[in-house]
Amino acid sequence: MKDDARAELTELVAQVTEHLRYRHELGIELAGESVVAMVATAGEQACETLEEIRRDLGDCRRCKLWTTRTNLVFGEGNPKAHLMFVGEAPGADEDATGRPFVGRAGQLLTKMIEAIGMKREEVYIANVVKSRPPDNRPPEKDEIEACSPFVFRQIASIRPRLIVTLGNPATQELLRTRTGISRLRGEFQDYPHMPGIKVLPTFHPAYLLRSPDKKREAWEDLKRVRTFLDQI
Ligand code: URA
Repeated sequence: MKDDARAELTELVAQVTEHLRYRHELGIELAGESVVAMVATAGEQACETLEEIRRDLGDCRRCKLWTTRTNLVFGEGNPKAHLMFVGEAPGADEDATGRPFVGRAGQLLTKMIEAIGMKREEVYIANVVKSRPPDNRPPEKDEIEACSPFVFRQIASIRPRLIVTLGNPATQELLRTRTGISRLRGEFQDYPHMPGIKVLPTFHPAYLLRSPDKKREAWEDLKRVRTFLDQI
């Protein structure tokens, strides 16, 4: 979108949002107003840049993980990527560097990206949770709830054509499902929050390091990614 059109839309969305907030404070709710509010929120998010989202995240203390983390891990890569990878949460190496997927699992993810003929810089890589859970435990429900709005906003800003979710927490949060990765992997799904975006769940690279016999299935999934990208 051109800068002046973007500024105009941002202004319009801000006015609608302000009006809705004003009505809400007065206790005036109209039928369908929540739909209008959702549209306003969606419009607002579509206009955001990654820098704006990062600024809003700030020195985040929205959940208890801030007390034990070293660095927040926002995400990195091409802000206009067609392909995005979403993982679970930073580990020790990511916490130390502030960059996603740079440890052993990250090195495998980089190889997976290169195996489909792409460079790491061409894609965007993020996590559902931006702060490291202590001792690499899985993120808890309240932590995911506090943090996932940021990955949704990153997705709305980048508007990738395909998101590859890595492992259970990312798959279940993005697809709003309780179904497990073993059932979902390798099948394209619609991203439920925004039309025109597909989601392909696959195994987390850390799981592949522990269970190398699963690499064959992961490779099948990567080939599906390549075919999808070749068709857009
Ligand atoms: N595992 C993840 O889910 N994300 C990272 O950034 C690193 C390891």
